[in-house]
Amino acid sequence: MKKALCLLLSLVMVFSMTGVAFAEKTDKNENPIIIIPGFMQTTLLSENEKGEAEKVWLPDFFEKLDIIGKSLPEILLSFVSAMADKPEKLGTELMELINDLAPKMVCNPDGTSVHPVFHLENDPAKRNMAFIKGEKEKPGMLAYYTFANYICEKGYADADNVFIFEYDGRMDALFLAENLRDFIKDVKAYTGKDKVRLFGVSYGGQIAETYLHFYMNDNDVEKAVFNVPSFGGTNFGHRILNGSVEFALDDVMDIIESITGSDTEFNRILKDVDPEFFSRTLNGITEGIRAFAKYWGSVYSLTSVEYYDELKNQFLDEKESAEIIRRNDIIHYEVMPKVGETLRKCIDEGIYIAVHAASGLQLALGGEENSDLLLSVKDVTGATTTLFGERYKDGYKGAGTACSDKSHNHISPSGEVDASTAYLPENTWFVDGQHHAMFQYENYGLNLAAKTLCTDELKDVHSDPDYPQFRVSDNPHRGVYAEFDNSTSGFISEKDGAFIIENTYKNNKIRILSVTVKGADVSFDLPFKRTLSPGEKLKVGFDGDFTKAASSKASVKVKYVKLDNISHITDRKFDFTVLKEYENDIDNLTVKNELYCGDSSGMPVLKRAAVTLINILDIIFVLIDFIGSDAFRYLL
Ligand SMILES: [Zn+2]
Repeated sequence: MKKALCLLLSLVMVFSMTGVAFAEKTDKNENPIIIIPGFMQTTLLSENEKGEAEKVWLPDFFEKLDIIGKSLPEILLSFVSAMADKPEKLGTELMELINDLAPKMVCNPDGTSVHPVFHLENDPAKRNMAFIKGEKEKPGMLAYYTFANYICEKGYADADNVFIFEYDGRMDALFLAENLRDFIKDVKAYTGKDKVRLFGVSYGGQIAETYLHFYMNDNDVEKAVFNVPSFGGTNFGHRILNGSVEFALDDVMDIIESITGSDTEFNRILKDVDPEFFSRTLNGITEGIRAFAKYWGSVYSLTSVEYYDELKNQFLDEKESAEIIRRNDIIHYEVMPKVGETLRKCIDEGIYIAVHAASGLQLALGGEENSDLLLSVKDVTGATTTLFGERYKDGYKGAGTACSDKSHNHISPSGEVDASTAYLPENTWFVDGQHHAMFQYENYGLNLAAKTLCTDELKDVHSDPDYPQFRVSDNPHRGVYAEFDNSTSGFISEKDGAFIIENTYKNNKIRILSVTVKGADVSFDLPFKRTLSPGEKLKVGFDGDFTKAASSKASVKVKYVKLDNISHITDRKFDFTVLKEYENDIDNLTVKNELYCGDSSGMPVLKRAAVTLINILDIIFVLIDFIGSDAFRYLL
């Protein structure tokens, strides 16, 4: 399962109702929330010649069009030569452009900044959502604005009680953990509260964990929720600095669609380009990146223990870079090996911990591990996995090193993740097919984050069948999401009578063409009406018994076509685990499903005729839509 699965979509109604219901509650958690963004997701400033603060990161591409304009001829020439088989040259040109756009980001061998560069001031009066939303000019980007705004709008938190931590992303995790400690103290003083709640994403999660490793005894934290934390680092720095990038093009293009929530034809076009071309282009940039980021402490903090020594010996001088080495040795030899211990100690101390991970994707820059694109599942959660694209043998029950409770099922329905070996098997949630840190663009990811951070509803992965340990991504761009009617996402049991398919596109109608299964002697009966509007669900009955099949795995393929756009026929595969014995079902498998359309089986003849007629009209309307669309004009 290469492009990992799924998606669902937003029931705006359900959302808003949840919001209203919640807003009426009076027992809202009043402890302030601190969001800690990921690597290079914070704004950096520098003083220009006139003494004014000027943004140096992220480089503002529109303000710097003149620089881009000057480089453009060379880039175009390089592109031509790249096409003539010299992609490295294109990489070098691109890197020079990035250097011109952000010239002040370079660090000295001891890890300090060459130029006076600073982040936005961590003043609680200015770094809370109420103030940020009221600002006339946005001085910088706000990486998790969508999420921060969501919890405020839905009544999960008050805007003046949600804070964003700012930091210099070039610095090591030890230094930043100390910065975070200062900010936590300031937020406590500003709000008058005893404790805070932390929400750390990616490198932000690693910073929060490093903070807890050293300062748990400050007793300042009530909850720490980690989204795809880089607890164990990644192979990214190693691959880039070494020039050993193998570009996983499919998944990298996918992420663009994931952010925009729509699918494009990019993937299909780029599939025809030799992947080697992109890897060589990227490797052409590595020399530039070395000059640019070689002395960033964060690059080493983000490197997994496995590659750290090699990278350090290769690129850092013992004397000149002693400080980067000293601090990162602490991260790699003291903090990283004890992540599990630290998290379990937090729980013993009464701190609520939740880890959100994503799985089922290839590592973007190369590597065989199952990942969320940037971080391997193992480095994020401690859980063991199969290699990317493989799955455990039928009937695998898990190594059970961290949880040996036989009534728990910690194996993912896709057969790829064994959470019984995770740092925290009962407090780690996985989303199959979600891209790194993209939770806020998906309904489920957004709600899981909001519920764990802002409510007491999800004590652990057993608390609510709607938030099980494993769930398939419902990003809108994935087109369809599917599950069986009475089981949790990813499972089939004998309680199920139908298969539910949902159109997750925001704007496109789809028509379901076929549903087929591998691994069981079962056939699906597609109803007459199978054109689905955005958000609409289709109930599909089936003949046969999954629980009688020899395998406990079943793979269901849904083939569909997007109707109001130029589109290929697309399919999406969903992996299921069949629960064979009813009495051994994992806890609370029943899920409520509301059907919005669909099932024509068992209808009287006249009604069936009417449904057929409606179907025909439906197709005609779709055709009319299409003829009026830009896509059609483009065809002409
Ligand atoms: Zn367990």
